[in-house]
Amino acid sequence: MATVTIDIDLPAGVTVTGYQRHGDGHGFEVAWPFPTRARCDHCGHEDAASLEFTNRVQVVRDLDICGQPSFWIYQPAYHRCPWCNHRQWLIPPFKRKDTSYTYRFEQQVLRLLIGSNEEEVARRLGISAEMVGLIVNHQLADAKDKEVDPQRVITDLGIDELSLKKRHKLYATILTDLTNPQQPEVLAVAPGKDEAAARQCLEKLAEPQRQGVRTYRADMAVAFHNACRELLKKARPVVDRFHVAKKFNEAIDGQRKKNHAGVPGEAVEGPAEGVSGSVVGVPSRPPGSHPGAAAGVGGVIPETAPVADAVRAAAAFPEDL
Ligand SMILES: [Zn+2]
Repeated sequence: MATVTIDIDLPAGVTVTGYQRHGDGHGFEVAWPFPTRARCDHCGHEDAASLEFTNRVQVVRDLDICGQPSFWIYQPAYHRCPWCNHRQWLIPPFKRKDTSYTYRFEQQVLRLLIGSNEEEVARRLGISAEMVGLIVNHQLADAKDKEVDPQRVITDLGIDELSLKKRHKLYATILTDLTNPQQPEVLAVAPGKDEAAARQCLEKLAEPQRQGVRTYRADMAVAFHNACRELLKKARPVVDRFHVAKKFNEAIDGQRKKNHAGVPGEAVEGPAEGVSGSVVGVPSRPPGSHPGAAAGVGGVIPETAPVADAVRAAAAFPEDL
């Protein structure tokens, strides 16, 4: 048997402690350093973290690997407040509260939306269109406070409009760093698709950073070009509609068609840590199902199930979450 080594970039502090391949999915057991102090959500008291664990593991969706979904598996931990006895989940640094996917999965969803729509992206990823909408809303809500590192060297940008078909009133503008074309990264996102939205994105870059931009790719929208002409003084436009989308879609489609033909997996947004009483369970496997046919997001799996089963279940039955 051949062994293939792949590089995985991990958020700071996160380590991979195990791996399970299952069907068309990849499961990585991950760990992260627990905080030494915690603040109680209930009474506001801050104290040394008092950790408690449950007999579950949590499975959350991460980026695709070679067109196949990957999942992170970890043991969630509580903090027990020594003052009021309130128990709360410690949220890992790689995901937000009450979601079953990582922050970078959210970014992947945003990038895939360029030149596409929520139904199409949902189909590609095997999640629900509602979840795509929720992710965009979360990203927009975060965008105001998000800063671009002023030291980052940016020579090429893409600026695009996102539209969500189901709620045609929701448009967003997304700014992508295309300096390394193999690894486009979302820099900013703003509500709307007008010049103001484009400016809002571009103003996330420091002035010297904007001066360093050589090219920008925008679709035909005049509004975007107006903003770019004014704020990116030394850059020239490269008009290339769906430029980024093409790269992502080409890469994904080849794999995707094999894995997802005719299987529009639908996943319902499931609560992750912190929601008692409505914990997402993964049912046992119904007869005739195809593991990995539709990739969804994760849920909470009893620890008694081996990790491999957890991954297969999470990958195979998103529609039942
Ligand atoms: Zn408390």
